Amino acid sequence: MLDPAWLLVLLPLAAASGWYIARRDALRRQTQAEFNLPSAYFKGLNFLLNEQPDKAIEVFIKVLEVDSETVEMHLTLGNLFRRRGEVERATRIHQNLIARPSLSKSQRIQALYELAQDYFKAGLFDRAESLFQELADIPGHAESALRYLSQIYEQEKEWSKAVSILRQSEKQLDKDNSKIIAQYYCEMAEVALSDGNTADAHEHIERALQEDSQCTRAVILLGEVEYRNADYGAAVQTWSAIRKQDPRFLGEIIDKLLEAFRHLEDDRALEAFLNESLEEIRSPRLLIAKVKELRGKNGDADAEAFLTEWLSENPSITGFRYLMELRKADQDQLTDRDRILDNVLASTIDDNAGYICQQCGFSGRSMHWQCPGCKGWTTIKPVDEER
Ligand SMILES: [Zn+2]
Repeated sequence: MLDPAWLLVLLPLAAASGWYIARRDALRRQTQAEFNLPSAYFKGLNFLLNEQPDKAIEVFIKVLEVDSETVEMHLTLGNLFRRRGEVERATRIHQNLIARPSLSKSQRIQALYELAQDYFKAGLFDRAESLFQELADIPGHAESALRYLSQIYEQEKEWSKAVSILRQSEKQLDKDNSKIIAQYYCEMAEVALSDGNTADAHEHIERALQEDSQCTRAVILLGEVEYRNADYGAAVQTWSAIRKQDPRFLGEIIDKLLEAFRHLEDDRALEAFLNESLEEIRSPRLLIAKVKELRGKNGDADAEAFLTEWLSENPSITGFRYLMELRKADQDQLTDRDRILDNVLASTIDDNAGYICQQCGFSGRSMHWQCPGCKGWTTIKPVDEER
Protein backbone atom coordinates (compact mmCIF):
# COMPACT_ATOMS: atom_id res chain seq x y z
CA MET A 1 0.00 0.00 0.00
CA LEU A 2 1.20 3.46 -0.87
CA ASP A 3 1.68 5.70 2.12
CA PRO A 4 -0.95 8.47 1.74
CA ALA A 5 1.72 11.01 2.70
CA TRP A 6 3.33 10.52 -0.70
CA LEU A 7 0.24 12.00 -2.32
CA LEU A 8 1.57 15.32 -1.11
CA VAL A 9 4.56 14.79 -3.36
CA LEU A 10 2.67 13.19 -6.22
CA LEU A 11 0.31 16.13 -6.65
CA PRO A 12 2.96 18.81 -7.17
CA LEU A 13 4.94 16.41 -9.31
CA ALA A 14 1.94 15.83 -11.53
CA ALA A 15 1.43 19.56 -11.79
CA ALA A 16 5.09 20.03 -12.64
CA SER A 17 4.91 17.46 -15.40
CA GLY A 18 1.97 19.28 -16.94
CA TRP A 19 3.85 22.54 -16.65
CA TYR A 20 6.86 21.00 -18.27
CA ILE A 21 4.99 19.52 -21.19
CA ALA A 22 3.30 22.87 -21.87
CA ARG A 23 6.66 24.55 -21.75
CA ARG A 24 8.17 21.94 -24.05
CA ASP A 25 5.41 22.50 -26.59
CA ALA A 26 6.03 26.21 -26.50
CA LEU A 27 9.78 25.90 -26.91
CA ARG A 28 10.22 23.14 -29.38
CA ARG A 29 13.89 23.73 -29.95
CA GLN A 30 15.20 22.80 -26.55
CA THR A 31 18.28 20.84 -25.69
CA GLN A 32 18.09 17.11 -25.22
CA ALA A 33 18.81 17.41 -21.49
CA GLU A 34 15.59 19.26 -20.76
CA PHE A 35 13.50 16.76 -22.66
CA ASN A 36 14.71 14.16 -20.17
CA LEU A 37 13.09 15.98 -17.26
CA PRO A 38 9.68 14.26 -17.18
CA SER A 39 11.16 10.82 -17.63
CA ALA A 40 13.57 11.53 -14.76
CA TYR A 41 10.64 12.53 -12.60
CA PHE A 42 8.73 9.38 -13.42
CA LYS A 43 11.84 7.39 -12.64
CA GLY A 44 12.14 9.16 -9.27
CA LEU A 45 8.46 8.66 -8.62
CA ASN A 46 8.81 5.00 -9.35
CA PHE A 47 11.51 4.70 -6.72
CA LEU A 48 9.27 6.47 -4.22
CA LEU A 49 6.38 4.14 -4.99
CA ASN A 50 8.68 1.18 -4.48
CA GLU A 51 9.72 2.59 -1.10
CA GLN A 52 13.26 3.30 -2.29
CA PRO A 53 13.51 6.92 -1.17
CA ASP A 54 17.31 7.13 -1.38
CA LYS A 55 17.32 6.27 -5.07
CA ALA A 56 14.45 8.69 -5.58
CA ILE A 57 16.46 11.46 -3.91
CA GLU A 58 19.42 10.78 -6.23
CA VAL A 59 17.19 11.15 -9.25
CA PHE A 60 15.51 14.32 -8.01
CA ILE A 61 18.84 15.92 -7.13
CA LYS A 62 20.07 15.21 -10.68
CA VAL A 63 16.95 16.82 -12.10
CA LEU A 64 17.69 19.86 -9.98
CA GLU A 65 21.05 20.19 -11.69
CA VAL A 66 19.23 20.31 -15.01
CA ASP A 67 16.64 22.88 -14.04
CA SER A 68 16.55 24.99 -10.92
CA GLU A 69 12.88 25.88 -11.35
CA THR A 70 12.00 22.68 -9.53
CA VAL A 71 13.14 24.07 -6.19
CA GLU A 72 9.61 24.16 -4.75
CA MET A 73 9.25 20.44 -5.29
CA HIS A 74 12.48 19.72 -3.50
CA LEU A 75 11.37 21.85 -0.60
CA THR A 76 8.10 19.90 -0.48
CA LEU A 77 9.91 16.60 -0.63
CA GLY A 78 12.40 17.60 2.09
CA ASN A 79 9.60 18.86 4.29
CA LEU A 80 7.75 15.60 3.87
CA PHE A 81 10.79 13.53 4.83
CA ARG A 82 11.31 15.63 7.93
CA ARG A 83 7.70 15.28 9.00
CA ARG A 84 7.97 11.52 8.58
CA GLY A 85 10.97 11.64 10.93
CA GLU A 86 13.47 10.91 8.14
CA VAL A 87 15.63 13.86 9.08
CA GLU A 88 18.85 12.69 7.43
CA ARG A 89 17.15 12.49 4.04
CA ALA A 90 15.54 15.89 4.52
CA THR A 91 18.94 17.33 5.45
CA ARG A 92 20.58 15.92 2.31
CA ILE A 93 17.94 17.45 0.09
CA HIS A 94 18.18 20.86 1.74
CA GLN A 95 21.98 20.90 1.82
CA ASN A 96 21.98 20.06 -1.88
CA LEU A 97 19.55 22.86 -2.61
CA ILE A 98 21.67 25.44 -0.79
CA ALA A 99 24.73 24.36 -2.75
CA ARG A 100 23.04 25.43 -6.05
CA PRO A 101 24.42 28.80 -7.19
CA SER A 102 21.33 29.36 -9.35
CA LEU A 103 18.93 29.77 -6.38
CA SER A 104 17.21 33.09 -5.95
CA LYS A 105 17.70 34.94 -2.66
CA SER A 106 14.25 34.04 -1.32
CA GLN A 107 14.66 30.39 -2.36
CA ARG A 108 18.00 30.25 -0.53
CA ILE A 109 16.44 31.72 2.62
CA GLN A 110 13.58 29.22 2.45
CA ALA A 111 16.04 26.34 2.05
CA LEU A 112 18.11 27.65 5.00
CA TYR A 113 14.96 27.79 7.11
CA GLU A 114 14.11 24.20 6.20
CA LEU A 115 17.66 23.04 6.94
CA ALA A 116 17.61 24.82 10.32
CA GLN A 117 14.44 22.89 11.19
CA ASP A 118 16.12 19.62 10.12
CA TYR A 119 19.03 20.32 12.49
CA PHE A 120 16.60 21.26 15.26
CA LYS A 121 14.64 18.06 14.84
CA ALA A 122 17.85 16.00 14.75
CA GLY A 123 18.90 17.62 18.04
CA LEU A 124 21.91 19.32 16.37
CA PHE A 125 21.23 22.49 18.34
CA ASP A 126 24.58 24.23 17.64
CA ARG A 127 24.00 24.12 13.89
CA ALA A 128 20.31 24.98 14.21
CA GLU A 129 21.16 27.89 16.51
CA SER A 130 23.54 29.60 14.07
CA LEU A 131 21.09 29.27 11.16
CA PHE A 132 18.14 30.54 13.20
CA GLN A 133 20.26 33.48 14.38
CA GLU A 134 20.86 34.37 10.74
CA LEU A 135 17.14 34.04 9.98
CA ALA A 136 16.12 36.10 13.02
CA ASP A 137 17.18 39.26 11.17
CA ILE A 138 15.16 38.46 8.06
CA PRO A 139 11.64 39.89 7.95
CA GLY A 140 9.05 37.16 7.50
CA HIS A 141 11.26 34.59 9.24
CA ALA A 142 12.11 36.49 12.42
CA GLU A 143 9.12 35.37 14.49
CA SER A 144 9.55 31.69 13.78
CA ALA A 145 13.37 31.82 14.10
CA LEU A 146 13.15 33.55 17.50
CA ARG A 147 10.62 30.99 18.67
CA TYR A 148 12.93 28.14 17.69
CA LEU A 149 15.88 29.88 19.37
CA SER A 150 13.97 30.22 22.64
CA GLN A 151 13.04 26.53 22.42
CA ILE A 152 16.72 25.63 21.91
CA TYR A 153 17.82 27.70 24.94
CA GLU A 154 15.00 26.26 27.05
CA GLN A 155 16.08 22.73 26.23
CA GLU A 156 19.73 23.56 26.85
CA LYS A 157 18.73 25.38 30.06
CA GLU A 158 20.62 28.48 28.89
CA TRP A 159 18.31 30.84 30.71
CA SER A 160 20.23 34.12 30.19
CA LYS A 161 20.31 33.53 26.44
CA ALA A 162 16.63 32.63 26.53
CA VAL A 163 15.88 35.95 28.26
CA SER A 164 17.83 37.88 25.57
CA ILE A 165 15.91 36.15 22.79
CA LEU A 166 12.53 36.99 24.32
CA ARG A 167 13.64 40.59 24.82
CA GLN A 168 14.70 40.73 21.15
CA SER A 169 11.29 39.35 20.20
CA GLU A 170 9.59 42.00 22.37
CA LYS A 171 11.51 44.75 20.53
CA GLN A 172 11.34 43.33 17.02
CA LEU A 173 7.80 41.95 17.05
CA ASP A 174 6.18 44.13 19.71
CA LYS A 175 5.26 41.14 21.86
CA ASP A 176 4.73 40.93 25.62
CA ASN A 177 6.89 38.08 26.91
CA SER A 178 7.10 39.27 30.52
CA LYS A 179 5.34 36.22 32.02
CA ILE A 180 7.73 33.79 30.35
CA ILE A 181 10.80 35.91 31.13
CA ALA A 182 9.71 35.82 34.79
CA GLN A 183 9.73 32.01 34.55
CA TYR A 184 13.27 32.06 33.13
CA TYR A 185 14.40 34.12 36.13
CA CYS A 186 12.67 31.61 38.42
CA GLU A 187 14.64 28.84 36.69
CA MET A 188 17.85 30.76 37.42
CA ALA A 189 16.73 31.24 41.03
CA GLU A 190 16.19 27.49 41.39
CA VAL A 191 19.68 26.78 40.04
CA ALA A 192 21.14 29.27 42.55
CA LEU A 193 19.09 27.69 45.38
CA SER A 194 20.30 24.21 44.50
CA ASP A 195 23.87 25.61 44.73
CA GLY A 196 22.98 26.96 48.16
CA ASN A 197 23.38 30.55 46.93
CA THR A 198 20.39 32.37 48.43
CA ALA A 199 21.79 35.83 47.58
CA ASP A 200 21.86 35.13 43.83
CA ALA A 201 18.49 33.38 44.08
CA HIS A 202 17.04 36.48 45.71
CA GLU A 203 18.30 38.70 42.86
CA HIS A 204 16.74 36.46 40.22
CA ILE A 205 13.45 36.37 42.12
CA GLU A 206 13.35 40.17 42.27
CA ARG A 207 13.87 40.33 38.51
CA ALA A 208 11.10 37.78 38.03
CA LEU A 209 8.73 39.90 40.12
CA GLN A 210 9.71 43.02 38.18
CA GLU A 211 8.64 41.23 35.00
CA ASP A 212 5.49 39.73 36.47
CA SER A 213 4.40 40.96 39.88
CA GLN A 214 1.74 38.20 40.00
CA CYS A 215 4.23 35.37 39.43
CA THR A 216 3.18 32.71 41.98
CA ARG A 217 6.32 30.70 41.43
CA ALA A 218 8.51 33.69 42.30
CA VAL A 219 6.52 34.22 45.51
CA ILE A 220 6.93 30.55 46.45
CA LEU A 221 10.69 30.83 45.80
CA LEU A 222 10.98 34.08 47.76
CA GLY A 223 9.46 32.34 50.80
CA GLU A 224 11.97 29.52 50.27
CA VAL A 225 14.92 31.95 50.31
CA GLU A 226 13.59 33.63 53.46
CA TYR A 227 13.02 30.25 55.11
CA ARG A 228 16.56 29.11 54.28
CA ASN A 229 17.90 32.36 55.69
CA ALA A 230 16.00 31.51 58.91
CA ASP A 231 13.84 34.62 58.42
CA TYR A 232 10.71 32.68 59.37
CA GLY A 233 8.53 35.73 59.98
CA ALA A 234 9.15 36.93 56.42
CA ALA A 235 8.61 33.42 55.02
CA VAL A 236 5.25 33.16 56.80
CA GLN A 237 4.19 36.53 55.42
CA THR A 238 5.32 35.77 51.87
CA TRP A 239 3.78 32.32 51.67
CA SER A 240 0.54 33.39 53.38
CA ALA A 241 -0.04 35.84 50.51
CA ILE A 242 -0.49 32.89 48.11
CA ARG A 243 -3.89 32.20 49.71
CA LYS A 244 -5.19 35.40 48.11
CA GLN A 245 -3.00 35.41 44.99
CA ASP A 246 -3.59 31.86 43.72
CA PRO A 247 -5.32 29.60 46.31
CA ARG A 248 -4.73 26.48 44.19
CA PHE A 249 -1.05 26.71 45.08
CA LEU A 250 -1.46 27.00 48.86
CA GLY A 251 -1.51 23.20 49.13
CA GLU A 252 1.93 23.15 47.44
CA ILE A 253 3.61 25.01 50.29
CA ILE A 254 1.30 24.38 53.24
CA ASP A 255 3.64 21.91 55.00
CA LYS A 256 6.60 24.28 54.79
CA LEU A 257 4.48 27.25 55.77
CA LEU A 258 3.35 25.41 58.92
CA GLU A 259 6.98 24.54 59.59
CA ALA A 260 7.85 28.26 59.44
CA PHE A 261 4.98 29.00 61.86
CA ARG A 262 6.39 26.39 64.25
CA HIS A 263 9.79 28.08 64.18
CA LEU A 264 8.03 31.25 65.32
CA GLU A 265 6.41 29.22 68.14
CA ASP A 266 3.12 30.97 67.53
CA ASP A 267 0.58 28.14 67.80
CA ARG A 268 -2.44 30.41 67.81
CA ALA A 269 -1.43 32.16 64.60
CA LEU A 270 -0.75 28.78 62.96
CA GLU A 271 -4.12 27.41 63.98
CA ALA A 272 -5.96 30.55 62.91
CA PHE A 273 -4.29 30.55 59.49
CA LEU A 274 -4.93 26.85 58.94
CA ASN A 275 -8.59 27.03 59.98
CA GLU A 276 -9.30 30.10 57.87
CA SER A 277 -7.57 28.60 54.85
CA LEU A 278 -9.45 25.32 55.17
CA GLU A 279 -12.80 27.13 55.50
CA GLU A 280 -12.01 29.28 52.48
CA ILE A 281 -10.43 26.82 50.09
CA ARG A 282 -11.67 23.42 51.34
CA SER A 283 -8.95 21.55 49.47
CA PRO A 284 -8.10 18.00 50.54
CA ARG A 285 -4.43 18.93 50.92
CA LEU A 286 -5.27 21.59 53.48
CA LEU A 287 -7.60 19.14 55.20
CA ILE A 288 -4.79 16.59 55.54
CA ALA A 289 -2.45 19.31 56.87
CA LYS A 290 -5.06 20.20 59.49
CA VAL A 291 -5.64 16.57 60.51
CA LYS A 292 -1.88 15.93 60.76
CA GLU A 293 -1.54 18.99 62.93
CA LEU A 294 -4.32 17.71 65.24
CA ARG A 295 -2.81 14.26 65.28
CA GLY A 296 0.58 15.59 66.37
CA LYS A 297 -0.89 17.83 69.02
CA ASN A 298 -3.89 15.90 70.44
CA GLY A 299 -3.46 12.33 69.19
CA ASP A 300 -5.20 9.99 66.73
CA ALA A 301 -8.64 9.93 68.38
CA ASP A 302 -9.04 13.70 68.18
CA ALA A 303 -7.81 13.78 64.58
CA GLU A 304 -10.21 11.02 63.60
CA ALA A 305 -13.17 12.72 65.24
CA PHE A 306 -12.45 15.97 63.40
CA LEU A 307 -11.93 14.21 60.07
CA THR A 308 -15.13 12.16 60.38
CA GLU A 309 -17.16 15.26 61.08
CA TRP A 310 -15.53 17.22 58.24
CA LEU A 311 -16.13 14.38 55.76
CA SER A 312 -19.81 14.13 56.63
CA GLU A 313 -20.21 17.68 55.28
CA ASN A 314 -17.41 17.73 52.69
CA PRO A 315 -17.04 14.28 51.11
CA SER A 316 -13.59 13.71 49.65
CA ILE A 317 -11.71 10.59 48.58
CA THR A 318 -8.37 11.91 49.81
CA GLY A 319 -9.90 12.68 53.20
CA PHE A 320 -11.57 9.30 53.39
CA ARG A 321 -8.32 7.53 52.55
CA TYR A 322 -6.58 9.41 55.31
CA LEU A 323 -9.29 8.24 57.67
CA MET A 324 -8.41 4.67 56.65
CA GLU A 325 -4.76 5.51 57.39
CA LEU A 326 -5.71 6.58 60.87
CA ARG A 327 -7.68 3.38 61.39
CA LYS A 328 -4.85 1.29 60.00
CA ALA A 329 -2.64 2.77 62.71
CA ASP A 330 -5.07 1.11 65.10
CA GLN A 331 -5.48 -2.27 63.32
CA ASP A 332 -8.48 -3.39 65.39
CA GLN A 333 -10.66 -0.69 63.88
CA LEU A 334 -10.15 -1.74 60.26
CA THR A 335 -12.69 -4.32 59.07
CA ASP A 336 -12.26 -6.50 55.94
CA ARG A 337 -14.85 -4.34 54.23
CA ASP A 338 -12.81 -1.23 55.06
CA ARG A 339 -9.74 -2.86 53.54
CA ILE A 340 -11.51 -3.73 50.28
CA LEU A 341 -12.92 -0.22 50.03
CA ASP A 342 -9.49 1.26 50.69
CA ASN A 343 -7.93 -0.85 47.92
CA VAL A 344 -10.63 0.15 45.43
CA LEU A 345 -10.13 3.81 46.27
CA ALA A 346 -6.35 3.47 46.02
CA SER A 347 -6.69 2.09 42.50
CA THR A 348 -9.00 4.91 41.34
CA ILE A 349 -6.93 7.63 42.87
CA ASP A 350 -3.75 6.41 41.18
CA ASP A 351 -5.45 6.89 37.83
CA ASN A 352 -6.26 10.50 38.62
CA ALA A 353 -3.85 13.34 38.29
CA GLY A 354 -2.72 15.82 40.87
CA TYR A 355 -1.71 18.28 38.16
CA ILE A 356 -3.33 19.10 34.82
CA CYS A 357 -2.27 21.36 31.95
CA GLN A 358 -5.09 23.74 31.11
CA GLN A 359 -3.76 24.14 27.59
CA CYS A 360 -3.20 20.57 26.36
CA GLY A 361 -4.67 18.34 29.09
CA PHE A 362 -1.33 16.76 30.05
CA SER A 363 -1.65 15.28 33.52
CA GLY A 364 0.84 13.98 36.02
CA ARG A 365 1.64 13.37 39.64
CA SER A 366 4.23 16.11 40.01
CA MET A 367 4.28 19.84 39.43
CA HIS A 368 5.96 21.22 36.29
CA TRP A 369 6.19 24.95 35.61
CA GLN A 370 6.71 24.17 31.93
CA CYS A 371 4.30 21.59 30.54
CA PRO A 372 6.19 18.52 29.22
CA GLY A 373 3.37 18.06 26.69
CA CYS A 374 2.79 21.45 25.03
CA LYS A 375 5.85 23.28 26.46
CA GLY A 376 3.54 26.03 27.74
CA TRP A 377 4.69 27.94 30.83
CA THR A 378 2.47 28.08 33.96
CA THR A 379 -0.27 26.18 32.14
CA ILE A 380 -0.20 23.33 34.68
CA LYS A 381 -2.26 23.78 37.84
CA PRO A 382 -2.78 21.59 40.90
CA VAL A 383 -6.20 19.95 40.96
CA ASP A 384 -8.10 18.16 43.72
CA GLU A 385 -7.68 14.47 43.14
CA GLU A 386 -11.32 13.59 43.26
CA ARG A 387 -12.33 15.90 40.46
ZN1 LIG B 1 0.36 21.37 28.16
